[in-house]
Amino acid sequence: MTYDTGKQDDDGMLEGLKAFQSDYFPRHQQRFQDLVAGGQHPTTLFIGCSDSRLVPYLLTGAGPGELFMVRNVGALVPPYDGSQGLHGTMAAVEFAVLSLQVRHIIVCGHSHCGAIRALYEGVPDRAVALKAWLELATDAALPVQPSTEAMRRTEQRSVELQLARLMDYPMVREKVEAGALALHGWHYVIETGEVHVFDATRAGFVPAAEAGHSGTGPFMPHVEPGPPG
Ligand SMILES: [Zn+2]
Repeated sequence: MTYDTGKQDDDGMLEGLKAFQSDYFPRHQQRFQDLVAGGQHPTTLFIGCSDSRLVPYLLTGAGPGELFMVRNVGALVPPYDGSQGLHGTMAAVEFAVLSLQVRHIIVCGHSHCGAIRALYEGVPDRAVALKAWLELATDAALPVQPSTEAMRRTEQRSVELQLARLMDYPMVREKVEAGALALHGWHYVIETGEVHVFDATRAGFVPAAEAGHSGTGPFMPHVEPGPPG
């Protein structure tokens, strides 16, 4: 059997591969080779929605070796059950925290999220895995019509829900309580480019430009107790 490469329609992917190797890679070759020789030491685990409009490297300015990433539909975190089940997101959290020893975990949702909209509008009957998966966000849904504002609130509530669930991971809770790991909740607004970060002191999301920090988890970051009195 022959493979007629002349007729394949790959939406420009081959051109992209060639451009990467001939243009981008030579300018960053040393960085990649250092990352092979010295291994990767990312300090951040980024849990983001799979949505194609969310581009974590653009938002954060991070380059190769800086973000350990897991992406899934809705940026959802399954409950930690300590099982040996086939669960990619759970395995990624364990690896990032226990092996890479990351110091930050970001959960990043976004505006116009199809996963969150599906909480209100449902999914195709055949999408049985998707339907089950989205139950991880069900508690974020509001008993209202899915207006723009309700969607925004639901997307943000889901981020809070996933952060809370992360705290049920024993290795996460231990490190957060020891001050060795910080959780960050983000909501990216595609149309304005703003990232709103969760602020535990205000129990809500604020634009990063006004927050003075890069987001908190469901609880205040670890603070050393001051002297008594
Ligand atoms: Zn999404």
